[in-house]
Amino acid sequence: MKGCKYGTHRVINENVLPQPAIKVNNDMDIYDNEILIDVSALNIDSASFTQIEEECSHDIEKIKSKIIEIVKEKGKMQNPVTGSGGMLIGSIEKIGNDLLDKTDLKVGDKIATLVSLSLTPLRIDEIIDIKPDIDRVEIKGKAILFESGIYAKLPEDIEENLALAALDVAGAPAQTQKLVKEGDSVLILGAAGKSGMLCCYEAKKKAGKKGRVMGLVRGEKQAQFLIENKLVDVAIVADAQNPNEVLQKVLRANKGCEIDLCINCVNVSNTEMTSILPVKDDGIVYFFSMATAFTKAALGAEGVGKDINMVIGNGYTKGHADVTINALRESETLRNIFKKLYI
Ligand code: NAP
Repeated sequence: MKGCKYGTHRVINENVLPQPAIKVNNDMDIYDNEILIDVSALNIDSASFTQIEEECSHDIEKIKSKIIEIVKEKGKMQNPVTGSGGMLIGSIEKIGNDLLDKTDLKVGDKIATLVSLSLTPLRIDEIIDIKPDIDRVEIKGKAILFESGIYAKLPEDIEENLALAALDVAGAPAQTQKLVKEGDSVLILGAAGKSGMLCCYEAKKKAGKKGRVMGLVRGEKQAQFLIENKLVDVAIVADAQNPNEVLQKVLRANKGCEIDLCINCVNVSNTEMTSILPVKDDGIVYFFSMATAFTKAALGAEGVGKDINMVIGNGYTKGHADVTINALRESETLRNIFKKLYI
């Protein structure tokens, strides 16, 4: 039997797509145009993991139970508070008959899914381990990839966990590569985070010597780290939830001028105005953060009379997996940092 290529046949009692659905059917008997994955690890979206950690008072057993409860209730790992998911790695267990001659995958291939866990039918049989520092949950379980679902075969020259960590935020560096132009002044909020560092790297490459890439972090240590590793031209220490402080510090760092582009990679709410205020008219704010509120951004920009372009951080852009893996191949510095932090 063939299902809808977007997976609507798995939505229970609603006329919506699987992502906004309250519950999806996570029965692991696949349709002819689905792929069954034997899952080894979930990379929970940072905003989601942070919320669950806080709700569970950082208690690992409580976090485990919460994740099991969410998947049981929703048939997918979609945080009911943040709405976000994450991604997974696993190996191909079965390919539906209809896809056999359409896909380049074969049984046994290791892949990372590049569609969100917030729409992926998932069954967890056992949680083996949780690594809270890197938002990773090692499991025994199964998942379904729909016909329209995108994925990346795990590269052989990069460690599996490293690829997983980087591919989780692949949209950000790839969009950065598209948005930054030579000579641009760019501010990255959350610059020492996972997506932040990849964005710094791509922004510096594109902005070049005439550009200025400014990374905003919370502490001196992170600022020093960014400078030492040449990931930014200027490091700014400030609280991304304090728009006025950030505005003053950014203007000071950019010779009194407003900037061309702000990339928001933080994992906390209430940073919309911090992103908007320093940007000049016709400039761009790229909201990669999942904690962004559309109303706060739209009404906030209007409220301060800013004619700027605001881009929603689509997790997908063509070639995003290649851009991200290539950044790790090209830059030994970045690769070593990622190895240290995310393996
Ligand atoms: P991450 O590694 O946790 O990085 C977040 C960074 O934000 C950290 O360096 C953190 O600093 C910093 N930060 C938090 N609060 C701050 C504050 N008040 N002032 C300054 N810095 C602050 O997260 P990530 O994996 O890069 O993800 C970043 C965001 O992207 C998350 O919201 C995530 O949900 C979202 N995301 C979006 C997509 C998409 O498709 N659009 C896909 C994946 C992830 P500390 O270490 O000091 O806390």
